[in-house]
Amino acid sequence: MTSIGIIGSGFGAVAVAVELKRSGHTDLRLWERADDLGGVWRDNTYPGAGCDVPSPLYSYSYEPNPRWTRRYALQEEIHSYIRKVADKHGITPLLRFGREVIAATWDEGTSTWTVTFSDDSTETVDVLISAVGQLSLPKLPPIPGIETFQGTSFHSAEWDHDFDATGKRVAVVGAGASAVQFIPHLANKAARLTVFQRSPNYLMPKPDKPYKAFHKTMFRVAPVTQTVERGGIWAIMEQFAKGLKDESRVGRINKKIALRHLDKQVTEPTLNAKLRPDYPMGCKRILFSNEFYPALAQANVDVVTSAVAAVTPDGVVDADGNEHKVDAIVYATGFDAQNFLESIDITGTGGRKLATQWADGAHAYLGIYVPNFPNLFVTYGPNTNLGGGSIIYMLEAQARHMRQALDRLKAGKYTTVQVTDEAEEAYDREIQERLDVSVWSYCENWYRHPSGRITSNWPGATLPFAKRTKVLEPEAFSWS
Ligand code: NAP
Repeated sequence: MTSIGIIGSGFGAVAVAVELKRSGHTDLRLWERADDLGGVWRDNTYPGAGCDVPSPLYSYSYEPNPRWTRRYALQEEIHSYIRKVADKHGITPLLRFGREVIAATWDEGTSTWTVTFSDDSTETVDVLISAVGQLSLPKLPPIPGIETFQGTSFHSAEWDHDFDATGKRVAVVGAGASAVQFIPHLANKAARLTVFQRSPNYLMPKPDKPYKAFHKTMFRVAPVTQTVERGGIWAIMEQFAKGLKDESRVGRINKKIALRHLDKQVTEPTLNAKLRPDYPMGCKRILFSNEFYPALAQANVDVVTSAVAAVTPDGVVDADGNEHKVDAIVYATGFDAQNFLESIDITGTGGRKLATQWADGAHAYLGIYVPNFPNLFVTYGPNTNLGGGSIIYMLEAQARHMRQALDRLKAGKYTTVQVTDEAEEAYDREIQERLDVSVWSYCENWYRHPSGRITSNWPGATLPFAKRTKVLEPEAFSWS
């Protein structure tokens, strides 16, 4: 029996675990550094946290949830959904909490991975699956003086729930997907809210709505109705992803919708100008909100567009030299998405380090398989993130491909699988050629490694990825 260790317990880990368990792989364990499952949906508890992909699509295809309370579910509900899926599929007993993986080394003699944990203990498995995702390491900006601040400060992914913004002067650094969700909440409480927005984003209206009792009954009694809604949302998102091409028809329509949303919600010319992006739509993640612009237009809110130059013990200094005295700073500055798996010291054949192999940016066949690292599988790996669409759809596709590789090992003829250099290089060349002419190459964004390579995103809609990963191609791998 092949023993399989999965690092993480978010949507990716659960997708793989369910897929493998259903295929008869029973020697499975999931190592989780925290004391609960859920990945980003456990960690990101800021006010208003939720998913900007509609829930019927942001769920596993085999686990529709007729009980979603609204079309765009909030964090708590999504977290409870993943917990229920893990329970139902028998994944919960496989979870090992408080197990932070710090290193993994391939042993060529025994064809096993030795996994080391933060308490120096080790475990040995035949197959190692990383499901740590792309957004698990909150990133604080390298702003001079950041450590000198005397008030309350925290990252949006580590929200301080003891902090009450009522009557306080609060600064928010960043205006991305997370900030857009919590700024309306802070704006309603703070005496003064100063938003440091380095770049504006395209923001579209969010067609959110609560599901009524009638919808829930319909989804439960006639599940096909929810399947139809899911299919409709999926089809729209596929077009949305295709529209992420400069000057495509869908792209032009989306841009019109976004700018009309801005003009309608922000009529004051100075603020309107600050919020108007000047780069191709889609280059940075397109955001959705009905409350963000009205919050910024409130009298107690300022938007500062000059860069943050320094943090002092009692405030933030902008690049124009103005000091903004505040009681609290919230950093909504995103995640260390580029250094894939860097927090784990992974050593493959011949002592090769994964960090060295990926020094110029991570790359992997189908985002999953890495040459020189046998029996290592990566879920939500390089070039599998989306500019539009449900990542869960992508995770399921990856899980199906991994399952086929592991079924071949389970069959007993082989003990190791490793992608060939040729297959991985050809795949990477193709993906990079497509990304070079994609909208993401037109501006600064978190999808790009400092080397210039776009390492996060899949270049296109989700169906082509699902098709490409549907059937394992044995010739792309060496089996032994
Ligand atoms: P983000 O999108 O990376 O945004 C970071 C923000 O911080 C940007 O506005 C960025 O400005 C700013 N920033 C970074 N360093 C700065 C500095 N030194 N000085 C001033 N500003 C700085 O981070 P996020 O909002 O946490 O979202 C990250 C990702 O998480 C999203 O793209 C998305 O994939 C995911 N997410 C998803 C949802 C959802 O609803 N599905 C919700 C939240 C997050 P620039 O734009 O100029 O770099």
